[in-house]
Amino acid sequence: MGLTGSTDPELVMQRRQQLADQLGFELDRAVMTVQEHGAQVVTFHRRRPEGGQCVFSTDALATDVPGQAIVTYHADCFPLLFLDGSRGVVAGAHAGWRGSLAGVATQTVQALHLAYGTAPDQLEVLIGPGICARCYLVGGEVAQQFAARYGREDRYLQREGADVRLDLEGVVRLQLEDEGVAPSRIRSAGWCTREEERWFSHRGGRPGRFLSVVVAP
Ligand SMILES: [Zn+2]
Repeated sequence: MGLTGSTDPELVMQRRQQLADQLGFELDRAVMTVQEHGAQVVTFHRRRPEGGQCVFSTDALATDVPGQAIVTYHADCFPLLFLDGSRGVVAGAHAGWRGSLAGVATQTVQALHLAYGTAPDQLEVLIGPGICARCYLVGGEVAQQFAARYGREDRYLQREGADVRLDLEGVVRLQLEDEGVAPSRIRSAGWCTREEERWFSHRGGRPGRFLSVVVAP
């Protein structure tokens, strides 16, 4: 039943379909694993207390299922919305400082390439509202981690005496450009969640989350 290493993938798919027909389930709605000898568990629910299906412990999701929406939640952390219009692929990501340091934007571009064949220079990316550099004082040890990992700190760190401000959008742009996304295709809302009352903001003391959504065409 496994495709990996199979000499006849078509026959494997026929067997799977045959089994599905015999047991009476829809193969194209089945949930499957691509295993990695780990211990993470993802659950799906008939009753959906969150309104949709939740995938735990992940900060980015992608789909090419027409009409499928990807939803992420934010309050200062940036929503990143990706579109490969030629393949009908979208992705949504959540980028705070930890995710940005870990390279969530980088990983998303690479995952889209691996999973759907998306060429980075064909991607359009929208950076949604988040906390701006003016409002985002960080500790020296946080700034140092970015500088050590990504260099070019003039693009995302602003130093004033002992204060260091982190421009998360700047980090994200750097990562996207490094992956080959065209700068002209990276757009930003330019809205600061801390400064503008209409947004929820962790640092601004407006608890709650707003929702970001991208829908596959
Ligand atoms: Zn601001």
